[in-house]
Amino acid sequence: VDTLTKNQRSRLMAAVRGKDTAPELLVRSTLHRLGYRFRLHGADLPGRPDLVLARHKKVVFVHGCFWHRHSCSRATTPKTRRGFWLDKFLANQRRDARNYHTLKKSGWTVVVIWECEAYDASKLLRRIRSAFARTRSPVPASAARRSGRNRGRR
Ligand SMILES: [Zn+2]
Repeated sequence: VDTLTKNQRSRLMAAVRGKDTAPELLVRSTLHRLGYRFRLHGADLPGRPDLVLARHKKVVFVHGCFWHRHSCSRATTPKTRRGFWLDKFLANQRRDARNYHTLKKSGWTVVVIWECEAYDASKLLRRIRSAFARTRSPVPASAARRSGRNRGRR
């Protein structure tokens, strides 16, 4: 990657965005293993969430730390064209905030999983468990208890 020019690099990074990235695949397989079912790329929803769990009324965004400015070491700021990047990051953050707001207003719970969390298998497992722990099942609690639903998820 270091041999690419700045333009090539940004084009490459733009192309990578929106595809099925490694962190996305990790999140999907972990959720799947825990028994959650979901659909991909909610094109009908604000911000096109990566995963939609309609039954739980939750959407999951798997965010790249660089583009979406996670408070971790991956969220570096390129030294050249600093103003350009800062504007771009600000626009991304504003767009994210707007999308979360619209989703929440329509009753969705928004779960953001960061790329760096996805790469750490045990952290990812904890993150997903806590994000889905308080999920209310459409099945009444008593029926859920009887059938053993939502058990063994802790
Ligand atoms: Zn991060």
